[in-house]
Amino acid sequence: SLTAGIVGLPNVGKSTLFNAITKAGVEAANYPFATIDPNVGVVEVPDDRLQKLTELVKPKKTVPTTFEFTDIAGIVKGASKGEGLGNKFLANIRQVDAICHVVRCFEDENITHVSGKVNPLSDIEVINLELILADLESVDKRYTRVSKIARTKDKDALAELAILERVKETLEAGQSARTLEFTPEEAPLVKSLFLLTTKPVLYVANVAEDEVGDAENDMVKQVREFAASEGAEVVTISARIEEEVAELDDEEKAEFLNEIGIEQSGLDQLIQKAYSLLGLGTYFTAGEQEVRAWTFRLGMKAPQAAGVIHTDFERGFIRAETVSYDDLLAAGSMVAAKEVGKVRSEGKEYVVQDGDVMLFRFNV
Ligand code: GDP
Repeated sequence: SLTAGIVGLPNVGKSTLFNAITKAGVEAANYPFATIDPNVGVVEVPDDRLQKLTELVKPKKTVPTTFEFTDIAGIVKGASKGEGLGNKFLANIRQVDAICHVVRCFEDENITHVSGKVNPLSDIEVINLELILADLESVDKRYTRVSKIARTKDKDALAELAILERVKETLEAGQSARTLEFTPEEAPLVKSLFLLTTKPVLYVANVAEDEVGDAENDMVKQVREFAASEGAEVVTISARIEEEVAELDDEEKAEFLNEIGIEQSGLDQLIQKAYSLLGLGTYFTAGEQEVRAWTFRLGMKAPQAAGVIHTDFERGFIRAETVSYDDLLAAGSMVAAKEVGKVRSEGKEYVVQDGDVMLFRFNV
């Protein structure tokens, strides 16, 4: 399954955030697959629709879908030269599908900052630079190889060389490759370079406990501006608060959030943003036994989406009875939705939509 890696300089609040994730994490009993790596935190994806479906169907059990965060320790200046845990750090980032970059946006004189003072933009730059340098190394290697082939006027090699030149220029200018746009023909080639700076990124602005729910401080504004320049997203949290919230039950949590003046916990916002950053959607199955949310990649066709539940569902797929969440809720029951013709019978080519409620028919 897809995972988002948590990165950031030392002392920005990564461990605090990861603790919150682990505390808020799923109960292993509900998720037998969860023989979990200590660096991986599995959380439930908050989804109001699941609650509504539960009220409507009244199943014996309700199961949310999950999302994984990976704690990536060890970035320091010089990582791309193998300093500190540098190489390991880069190798770990290579394996995640998205990056949650934690940035310190709180002042606290008791907590030292690695470069002496709190400055979110230069912090972001330090990490991004290491990733850019690592990418530059990969691109340079490839460039040398391809330019030899290109001397023979090989068409594919010439096309690739043109792309590599663009990427190289961008990296050399100190910018991430994600700032470039590629055509659908170029994209597979770029993907094959396994660059770090093309991974989608979410900046996590970690603010002081007493600033949650307040107007954004200047540091957060700076992060937001920078993120916009990269086409990246921002979520503001206080890791310390999240650690506390993670210990509360649902009712206490709602009360507490209300008190500090926010609607949704920072962690819940982080989960939802990371989820959509990865191009993920949720479909539901809704039976008397169980109402359950499932994660799929947006764009998947029905058989593939069915395969998320079980490979047999994909292999033996016949068709899927499908109703959108909105239509089902408006109709009030599955029977009523059928009566008004809102339940469709979809075949192998159907592209599953976020919020679809599905019943798969398949051959065993
Ligand atoms: P890491 O090195 O990035 O993993 O950072 P830690 O999570 O260990 O946090 C470093 C220090 O900052 C710890 O003393 C945390 O308690 C503190 N810290 C983390 N988040 C916050 C926050 O939201 N507000 C304040 N005041 N301190 C925080």
